[in-house]
Amino acid sequence: MENKPTKDPVCGMELEPKEVKATAVYKGKTYNFCEFGCKAKFDGDPEKYTKTSGTNTVHSSKKDNGSKKTGCCSR
Ligand SMILES: [Zn+2]
Repeated sequence: MENKPTKDPVCGMELEPKEVKATAVYKGKTYNFCEFGCKAKFDGDPEKYTKTSGTNTVHSSKKDNGSKKTGCCSR
């Protein structure tokens, strides 16, 4: 196993391996959580948290790379 950071699928937090407080295995995949509460939520509705691949969940809090639309026609 690589020791790459993993993502808590419930709260979306990125976790270093040493920060992982709980893990769950779902459909053969291991999921890591920052606290037991997140694991409990995951256990309650694993489908909900495994469907999102983590890119479309953030709507309003990240506007840093909003310069995507400029530049396509300026070359
Ligand atoms: Zn969490």
